[in-house]
Amino acid sequence: MSSHEGYICPACRKPLETVRIRGVDLEACTNGCGGIWFDAAELFRLDEPEEGEGDPVLARLLARSSQSPSGPSGEKRICLKCGAKMKNHEHREGSGIFIDECYACGGIWLDGGELKAIRENPVVRQSNEERARLAREFSQKVQEEKQRLGRGGKPPARQS
Ligand SMILES: [Zn+2]
Ligand SMILES: [Zn+2]
Repeated sequence: MSSHEGYICPACRKPLETVRIRGVDLEACTNGCGGIWFDAAELFRLDEPEEGEGDPVLARLLARSSQSPSGPSGEKRICLKCGAKMKNHEHREGSGIFIDECYACGGIWLDGGELKAIRENPVVRQSNEERARLAREFSQKVQEEKQRLGRGGKPPARQS
């Protein structure tokens, strides 16, 4: 039984299938619970309703996830990529969606139904917009700072 090379579902122990959506390779439990594994930062490419819209693979995954999202489960899942214990926490404050995240490698496990729930959740959406705005503002500040340093150049001359 150990001939399988791939990953095993941390929720239901079925072999995971690698699927590709928008150039992102994900491990999905297509034969079991419908859970999906995202490597670090991959979730943010698919957490908006219009992202990957019309992608047949994604549509299949979302259709499969008919289970209601789970709350805090208590039992800790083990990261399928690095073996660390994952933390179960609320995806965005107030969203009511609890996901498993590996703080060691940054991977995220979504139970069946959770990707759909995240994509449709108004709190997540608002929070994403807020983060995007802050990121824009931050990069603008960095840009301004660079220009300021480039113009002024030398540090003030020391009086002796
Ligand atoms: Zn599963
Ligand atoms: Zn990990």
